[in-house]
Amino acid sequence: MNKKNSPVKYANILKQTLKSHNFKITPQRIAIYNELMKFKEHPTATVIFKKVHKAFPNISYDTVHRTLLKFAELKLVSVVEGSLQGRKFDINLGKHHHFICVKCNKIVDFYSKEFDNLEMPEDIRSKFKISGYRVVIEGVCNKCIKKVDKKTNI
Ligand code: ZN
Ligand code: MN
Repeated sequence: MNKKNSPVKYANILKQTLKSHNFKITPQRIAIYNELMKFKEHPTATVIFKKVHKAFPNISYDTVHRTLLKFAELKLVSVVEGSLQGRKFDINLGKHHHFICVKCNKIVDFYSKEFDNLEMPEDIRSKFKISGYRVVIEGVCNKCIKKVDKKTNI
């Protein structure tokens, strides 16, 4: 882990953001944020709840979920669009795109200069002021392909 991504820096970002919006800085909020930042992929509230619950046995799922939505409101995380398996959160706030496995629902970030610079259809440009977009590619991940191969070999 490099310095740029240290937990201390994460905690500072959170504290500053909460402060500037007049939200209380609580150990629970810090714990939720820190757990969130440990994920490379796109955790659900359930996954974060299970982690935070170890340190704070009294915390409820609902509190964790609401806190995560609050973080999204404050633009500390983003919410992954259209995740069938429950809302997923994304700590990667940089421009990136998603590959989604239709078998295991895993979401993988990827980067593409070409996709970053797509020309928006005239139809959309004339009707909306575009503030962002993401390319979502669906398919089957390598792990799931291997599983299918094994089954068919039996
Ligand atoms: Zn998969
Ligand atoms: Mn992502």
